[in-house]
Parts: sequence; C-alpha cells; structure tokens
Amino acid sequence: MPETKTEQRVIRTDMTCNDCGNGVMRPTGVMLSSHPPQFAHACTNCGAQHAYRVNYPAFTYEDLPAQ
Ligand SMILES: [Zn+2]
Repeated sequence: MPETKTEQRVIRTDMTCNDCGNGVMRPTGVMLSSHPPQFAHACTNCGAQHAYRVNYPAFTYEDLPAQ
C-alpha cells in the first residue's frame, strides 16, 4: 500500500494549577510506579505538586474540518 499524508491540527491540553489558578503544571521528571503509573508535576507559579496519569502538556491530533 502507498503512503498517505493527511494534514492535521495539534491540540494542546494543559493543566492549570488547582491551588493558585495562575500557573500550569509541568512534569518534574519523576514517574510514580503506581498502577496505573502517574507523572509528578509542579506548578510553574506556586510550586504546588500533584501527580497525574497524563504528562502535561498533552498533545492530540485532529483531522482538519472538511473544506
Ligand atoms: Zn500554582
């Protein structure tokens, strides 16, 4: 089968800090070996730490709307 190429748009999903509401959560590089695994994050503004199943920012791709 030949290759196909499809133009898509990228959707960035970010997590706003639940403590201060001003910063965004960024990975600290630590992965918690829970089931399922979680990624430790720290707020860019206040430093609050939380762990999520998702590594933020998360990127997903969507097909462009039909012209
Ligand atoms: Zn914060």
